[in-house]
Amino acid sequence: MTKKVDNDDLRRLHQWQHKNFRVFSAAVVLIFLGITLPLAIDLPQWFQPLLFLLGFILLVVVVIFQLSAKCPNCGARLGIQVLPILPDQCKSCGLQFPRLHSLDSELDN
Ligand SMILES: [Zn+2]
Repeated sequence: MTKKVDNDDLRRLHQWQHKNFRVFSAAVVLIFLGITLPLAIDLPQWFQPLLFLLGFILLVVVVIFQLSAKCPNCGARLGIQVLPILPDQCKSCGLQFPRLHSLDSELDN
């Protein structure tokens, strides 16, 4: 029999995924801007290292946040199994995390 996660845990895990993906995206954008902006426009010398530093800090936050999510059934760390999104199922116990379109759109608001 397939194990299923209850709605509260699923909602919490989807919220974790959305926050994690947003911070990850912000980190990638900052690092990208740190690489490309100095090529396009004349910036103060301190600006590029500042963008890299902010991007690096956000990546550290992503890693810490990524490792914080645990399977509600067995306690395995879900963030190690796939980056930076929620896996389809826990690789340790097989608990499934279904994609709920209604929940996704609700979390976007
Ligand atoms: Zn598990």
